[in-house]
Amino acid sequence: MKIIENGTRPSDIGGESNFTGHVRRDPIYMADAPSRLACGQVTFDPGARTRWHTHPVGQLLVITAGSGQVGTWDGDVRAVKAGDVVWFEPEEKHWHGASPTTGMTHIAITEAENGSAVEWLEPVSDEDFIKE
Ligand code: MN
Repeated sequence: MKIIENGTRPSDIGGESNFTGHVRRDPIYMADAPSRLACGQVTFDPGARTRWHTHPVGQLLVITAGSGQVGTWDGDVRAVKAGDVVWFEPEEKHWHGASPTTGMTHIAITEAENGSAVEWLEPVSDEDFIKE
């Protein structure tokens, strides 16, 4: 057993290769093999979102604060709020982020396959992000 104390895992700011807008990442845990677990908290300012991306064996999101949006390549955009849980299927092309006007924080729980937990793709356009 080990306990990783709060304050020992520095926050960082997400870059343009992965995100649009202002995003803070707070690592939770990256497990060593044989586990394939990668877990982190991500906080999106209003309007911020990931790029389009896929996960080789899926991803679970736990929305922990605020309200935001999740979208899939078929054009579906859904509102999510604190307490909601979202599952993305393996290789399902998707994005997640804030709403246009409200910030959102989630915990992302992902498993790697062959050392990779995500494939980053193109940015999510404003047209795909704002579906009202
Ligand atoms: Mn994802």
